[in-house]
Amino acid sequence: MTFFKKRKKPDKKVEWNIKKDTLNFIFECAKSNYPKEFGGLLRVDSDEKTTIIEIVILPGTISGDSHAIFQLHMLPIDFSIIGTCHSHPSLSFNPSDADMFLFRKYGRVHIVVAYPFDNSSWQAYNNNGEKIDISVI
Ligand code: ZN
Repeated sequence: MTFFKKRKKPDKKVEWNIKKDTLNFIFECAKSNYPKEFGGLLRVDSDEKTTIIEIVILPGTISGDSHAIFQLHMLPIDFSIIGTCHSHPSLSFNPSDADMFLFRKYGRVHIVVAYPFDNSSWQAYNNNGEKIDISVI
C-alpha cells in the first residue's frame, strides 16, 4: 500500500494568470493618468476564473490624488471581479497602509504598478498584502 504525503496548504493556492494585453492596458492607463493615480478592478474569464482578462474602471476611481482612491461602498459584489489594480506615481509598488486595508477588505488579488509603468515595475499581492506571482500569458 502506498501512502501519499499530503502537503499542508494553509490556503487554497490558485495559479493566477493575466493576459498580456490586459497588463499593458493597466500600464497605459497608469501612464495617461500620471502623475495622478489610476485605479481599476480585475475581471477574470468565465471558465476557469483564474485568468485576468479585463480591467473595469469605476466612476470616480479613474484618477486620484491620494492613496485611498477606492471607496469600499462603491466596489461591486461581482464574482467575476477578483480584485483591484492601481498605480503609484512613485518608484515603489509597496502597498501603503490604505492599500493594505483595502486588500484585506476586498478581493483576492491586487496589482500595484509603479513608475515607469512597465514589465519591471509591477507587483501582485494577495489579500494579506503578501507578494504573489501572476503569469503573463
Ligand atoms: Zn497604493
